[in-house]
Amino acid sequence: MLLKLLGCLQPDFEVDAVEQIDLQAWWQAGLRGLILDVDDTLTLKNSPRLAPAVQDWLLQAQAIGFQCFLVSNNRYPEHIAVLSERLAIPGIAQAGKPRSRGFVWAMQKSGLAPEQFVAIGDRVLTDILGAGFLGLKTCLVAPVTPKLSAAKQILYNFEKRLAGLPKNR
Ligand SMILES: [Mg+2]
Repeated sequence: MLLKLLGCLQPDFEVDAVEQIDLQAWWQAGLRGLILDVDDTLTLKNSPRLAPAVQDWLLQAQAIGFQCFLVSNNRYPEHIAVLSERLAIPGIAQAGKPRSRGFVWAMQKSGLAPEQFVAIGDRVLTDILGAGFLGLKTCLVAPVTPKLSAAKQILYNFEKRLAGLPKNR
């Protein structure tokens, strides 16, 4: 059990930003669904603003045929609802990651198998652990926030050490 948990902390992919993800390569590898964290993965925390490169990347994912879902731990459902509507991507807030509720919701809506999904997020102990435990592929991104507070930096570095990864740049 402990070994399985430790294995779930290690992402299958790691990138500096979502727009660096090669969607065509993922599609060719048989991946069909994306479960997207929102805060510090697509946007700054609690911000409705999407960088143009992120927006383009999401449009490309949808055009290729990926089924996309926003699964966020954000406390404000209206914040996620605004983004969800704007992007035409189904989404839920208060998902309680690493618990399975949000991941299971996306899998049930899509009809895809766990191994056809990649869960993308900035946090090892919520996004990566929760998805890995269910057998989804996982992708860790560096947080969107350019300069983290000291406390947040310590948290990120702690999580990366748990996962056996190099520290954040
Ligand atoms: Mg996040």
